[in-house]
Amino acid sequence: MTRPLTATIDLNAMRHNFSVVRSSVPNAKAWAVVKADAYGHGLERAVRAFADADGLALIEIDHAINLRKTGWQKPILLLEGFFKADELPELAENEISFAVACDEQMAMLEKAVLPKPVNVHLKMNSGMNRLGYLPSAYRTAYERLSRIPSVKSISYMTHFANSEDPSHPKVPVSEQLRRFDGATAGLPGERNLSNSAAILLHPYIRTDWVRPGIMLYGGTPGGKSAEEYGLIAAMSLDSEIIQIQNIRKGDSVGYGSLFTAEADMTIGVVACGYADGYPRVAPEGTPVIVDGVRTRLVGRVSMDMLTVDLTPVKGAHVGSKVNLWGKELPIEEVAVAAGTVGYELMCALSSRPQVIELD
Ligand SMILES: *Cc1c(COP(=O)(O)O)cnc(C)c1O
Repeated sequence: MTRPLTATIDLNAMRHNFSVVRSSVPNAKAWAVVKADAYGHGLERAVRAFADADGLALIEIDHAINLRKTGWQKPILLLEGFFKADELPELAENEISFAVACDEQMAMLEKAVLPKPVNVHLKMNSGMNRLGYLPSAYRTAYERLSRIPSVKSISYMTHFANSEDPSHPKVPVSEQLRRFDGATAGLPGERNLSNSAAILLHPYIRTDWVRPGIMLYGGTPGGKSAEEYGLIAAMSLDSEIIQIQNIRKGDSVGYGSLFTAEADMTIGVVACGYADGYPRVAPEGTPVIVDGVRTRLVGRVSMDMLTVDLTPVKGAHVGSKVNLWGKELPIEEVAVAAGTVGYELMCALSSRPQVIELD
């Protein structure tokens, strides 16, 4: 018998979510962001689901090269660019576009001897202070880049720090846009701007390309639910009750005996733990669905198991269906309980759950 833990990946949900990108920003081309193994959904599956995307964007150079080898012919973009000079010839050979975000990358590109010309996305640090040239240094960087003979095209790229929070007091989208527009005014070439939250909450932003990630997988940045945005969760993590314990008032459960019963009660043991990607820090009360009934995690999550309160679940038994997250239980709810974001839970899905693909 196989362990009853499954991760179901719904490619039609991913296709549907991509269509939400199209209807939200009908005039923009879209990079489907497939970094981190397509946010835990499987890169190869994402390639099939996002066949209509105008390009694929990711971080991992080896995966980018593999995408070409396996037949993806449309653009590919490396969001962090390259790391070492010796990577450049292979990127050029495979027609992989990349970000250039600092003078170190610029110098490597200047010295490189490349088999084919390259498309570069010049990254601006418009307020996030992570990657990119400051607006004040941007024109100089642009001019330096445009003098490199092997650079075929230059696009302009920046990333928003707070696109899920339209009225952020420190670095609002409007201020980043003002800086970006100012520093790129009049430059020829394409703009590459919005992530999921910007697409959903600021669809008016004028950009040639958008870069949706989390929304493609049915995750939502910021407070709203997938439903409110018309998105569908693409990943469902499901298991079963593998044992039931009837405990007495005062008994405790699991490592550290964190949870103590206030009355006699029934505990369900679920085949899913932190080695599967369920967050160990999830506290008592984190929602879990058993046989369609919402209940709560009790006790500490262990490596291979977690424990739930079966009090509200009439007739629960060994083999009862457990949903840890998915269409009925948004991953964000579990994430918020665990003090993190849906992104992290998706990416942390381990290779242990058996994957079921819906296509
Ligand atoms: C990951 C990433 C995205 C996608 O962000 P989401 O919030 O998942 O839509 C877009 N742009 C860059 C530069 C990224 O690193």
